[in-house]
Order: sequence, then C-alpha cells, then structure tokens
Amino acid sequence: MVDVLVIGGGNAALCAALMAREAGASVLLLEASPKEWRGGNSIHTRNLRCMHDEPQDVLTDAYPEEEYWQDLLKVTGGITDEKLARLAIRHSSTCRPWMIKHGVRFQNSLSGTLHLSRTNAFFLGGGKALVNAYFRSAANLGVEIRYDTPVDRLELVNGEFRAAWVGNERIEAKACVISNGGFESNREWLREAWGQHEGEWVADNFIIRGTRFNTGVLLKQMLEAGADRIGDPAQCHAVAIDARAPLYDGGICTRVDCVSLGIVVNRDGRRFYDEGEDFWPKRYAIWGRLVAFQPNQIAYSIIDAKAVGRFMPPVFPGEKANDLPTLARQLGLDPDDFMKTVEAYNASCKVGTFDHAVLDDCHTEGLTPAKTHWALPLDTPPFYGYALRPGITFTYLGVKIDETAAVHFSGVPSRNLFAAGEVSAGNVLGKGYLAGIGVTIGTAFGRIAGTSAARAALAPASPDKTKTAEGALSAAA
Ligand SMILES: Cc1cc2nc3c(=O)[nH]c(=O)nc-3n(C[C@H](O)[C@H](O)[C@H](O)COP(=O)(O)OP(=O)(O)OC[C@H]3O[C@@H](n4cnc5c(N)ncnc54)[C@H](O)[C@@H]3O)c2cc1C
Repeated sequence: MVDVLVIGGGNAALCAALMAREAGASVLLLEASPKEWRGGNSIHTRNLRCMHDEPQDVLTDAYPEEEYWQDLLKVTGGITDEKLARLAIRHSSTCRPWMIKHGVRFQNSLSGTLHLSRTNAFFLGGGKALVNAYFRSAANLGVEIRYDTPVDRLELVNGEFRAAWVGNERIEAKACVISNGGFESNREWLREAWGQHEGEWVADNFIIRGTRFNTGVLLKQMLEAGADRIGDPAQCHAVAIDARAPLYDGGICTRVDCVSLGIVVNRDGRRFYDEGEDFWPKRYAIWGRLVAFQPNQIAYSIIDAKAVGRFMPPVFPGEKANDLPTLARQLGLDPDDFMKTVEAYNASCKVGTFDHAVLDDCHTEGLTPAKTHWALPLDTPPFYGYALRPGITFTYLGVKIDETAAVHFSGVPSRNLFAAGEVSAGNVLGKGYLAGIGVTIGTAFGRIAGTSAARAALAPASPDKTKTAEGALSAAA
C-alpha cells in the first residue's frame, strides 16, 4: 500500500507530493486529466504574492506581513481565518528557495501588469513552466503519477481516509491529500449556486477561464460525507473576459483590461458601475460578478484611441469604428440608447491631469453612476468595443482545514486526510481576491499537507487505531 495518495495535478497537489516524498513517504499522484492537460488552473498562473521585508531578486522594496494581512482583510471584508491566513502569508516569505530547488524560475514582473513588481514574484514561462518543473522533479524523486484518473469518491470512516475509488478500482493509502481544485467547471452546480436573477439563470453564460477538470465531484461527496464546509458556493473569483473566449482554458489572454480607461455599458446601452473606482488590480475581480447581474449576462467595454497602449491588449482585437454609432451597431447595441449614454458621460467629464498610475482627478460630475478617476471624454477615433462575459476563475466553497491542513469533521481534525489549494481556499478567501494569493495558498497548504500526510502515514499505528481501522473497514465494505 502506498503511504500518501495525492489527488489532483495542480500546484497544491504537486507541492504536497514533493514534500511528502522528501519526508520519506512513497507517493502516488492521481490526475483526472490526460497528460497533455495536466496541471489544472495552475498552468494559467503567472505569479505568487510574497511577503518580504527587503528587496529580493525579482521583488522590489518590501511587502511586510502586516501590509499583506491588511490587504487581505480589506478584500475579504474580514471573512477569513486570521491564523490560517497569516500562516500562508509567512510561508510566502520562505517558500521560493524550495520552489527554485524544484526547478521553478522567476522573472521580473511583466510590463502592463500594473504595480505588481513589489508584491508578486512572476514565474519564468508562467504556470505551465512551474507545473512542468514540479512534475519533472516529482518523477525524478520517484513519485508515481497516473493521468486520466478522476477519483469519484473517497472511502471514509469516522473522518479517516481508507481508500479512493476510481470507477471500480479501489486505491488504498495510509494518508491522503485532496487538492482537486474547486467546482468552477461544474456548470450544473454553478447554476444551482448562483440561482436566478430577474428570471435568468445567472451562471448560464459563464465562461470557465481554466481547466474543465475541476468538477467538484469529490468536494460534493466530502461535504455529503460530513466534512465541515467553509465558504459560500456563490463566492468565487470572476473577471470580465472577452465574450468570444473558449468555454474552457482561455486563460489570462482573454481578460479585457481597458475597463478603467473607458466606459462599460450593458445590453441596453446603459452604464451600471464606476469604471474608475480604484486601480485595476484591485477592481478587476469584481467585474465578472457585475456583468453576471446584467441582462443576458453581457456588457461592452468601450474605449477611444487615447486608451490604446495603456493596457495589455486581449488576444482578440476589439470591434473598431471611426464613429460611435457605427461601433454600437457593430456590437449589436441600439445606437440611440448608446449615444445618449456616451453624450451624458462626455458632458459630465471634469478633466484634470490624467495619470493612470495614480488615483487621478479626472472624474465625472452629476452622473449616476459616477466615474471617479480616469474619466476622459470618448472623443478620439478610432473607437473600440469588446463584448464581455463573466469569466469564472475558481470557486471558494471548500472543506474546513486547520494549521496542519487536516480536514475537519464536526470540528474534529482527520488523522490522515488533508486538503490544500482551491478545495480549501475558502478558509482564507471568504470573498474578494488579492492577485497572486491563489498560488500562495496552494503552495503553503500544499507543502503543509504533504508534510502532515507523510507524518500520518509514517507514524507507527497505535493498537487502538488499528482496531478502529479494521472495524471501520468491514463496516465500509
Ligand atoms: C486564467 C487563470 C489565471 C490565474 N492566475 C493566477 C496567478 O497569476 N496567481 C495566482 O495566485 N493564482 C492565479 N490563478 C488562480 C490559481 O490557478 C489557483 O488558485 C491555484 O493555481 C490553484 O491550484 P490548485 O492546485 O488548488 O488547483 P488546480 O491547479 O486547478 O489543480 C486541480 C487539479 O485537480 C485535478 N482534479 C480535479 N478533480 C479531480 C478528481 N476528481 N480526481 C483527480 N484529479 C482531479 C485537476 O485536473 C487539476 O489537476 C489563476 C487561475 C486562472 C484560471
């Protein structure tokens, strides 16, 4: 029997597998996807958010624990577990040498990513290179890896792990780490979680930015089996992405980042939110939800020539026209309604000194909703428009864990079942998002879970425990 079974093949799973192996455990990793799609959402990542007290290779200045914590507190509105959050934050200050040892390389922050050079360390080659490096290292260390192996359910007895089931195959292990992501690719579950708004199923037009394999099958089964639940099923990271993006795995390049430089209107040609409320990295993750609650879950980001060059262009070119009514027609909007909105917006702009790098003084007056920064009239052709859909990144509903990453059942930590990554991210992220913290959470708790699982697997079984296990096994059979 293998010592540690790791379920999943993304960042959290790989960190767990490597740590468990380094601790001397034999490790089997089960990845639902075929080899060519391995790595889950982690292949789309670009960076992790790191605490540091002084400049380090690719990180400028300092980003101390307290500032990181306050940033998290703000975005989550306090829906976070301080002990676990601080654990992840501190971990981010020490994990990079270990990552480098396993082949991950870092690079300076990319231009166009807006003020992230201080807080976020970027992976050379992105998340795909990170995942490939970890898989390579895992194979070199003797971790056994199986692809095309989606686990349907876990066999649990009184909160203890016994085996994982893949179809009719029963795979036993002494300890297990679940790191199988959220349920963002499960369209039925999303529908149920988001419900209806003004007669429309909110989630029906969601596009999944990452993997199709995070279906949450195991999460659902775990919650039904009595694992303590954390988080709200409708809370997630969701951004506005190009409506032409593929249903899965469009990744980062389908994000539309020009919202703060223009206006956004809905299907009726009306604005519905302050596009210039705050810096884009602090606001991009609210726009998926905002678009989700517009009619037909669609919106349109409109800019003029002045915005070009000030944001990272999405992979698909926008609709382009030399006058605004033509642009409206190209986007399928009523030109009269659209022009009323643009004219009201243009007339209300109080232009001061435009500066996209600060919260500048260009704002609207007498307009609802206001645009509070970077408000310049749309007056310089050519004009561009991008249709937007909600793009879901990952969900926050998960299982409750503690500092050892042990999964809790009615408040009691499991002896040998641990969780890491998105499947337990809700412990730290009750709502909101801080760019780069997904990988921080997965790395911290993946490494902790791997160590804990190895410890549980390699510890001599107490006679009582053995008895319980035997009784439990026959009860489960
Ligand atoms: C486009 C995009 C960009 C992102 N950019 C960043 C970024 O720059 N920085 C950041 O911090 N975060 C980013 N995130 C979020 C980030 O991906 C996650 O928080 C983190 O990588 C998740 O790691 P994970 O291991 O928990 O999940 P995943 O990487 O999604 O891995 C889950 C794994 O579980 C497997 N799996 C699922 N179900 C089963 C099953 N039943 N049996 C076996 N295997 C199963 C999947 O195939 C997958 O391999 C981004 C996400 C997306 C989609």
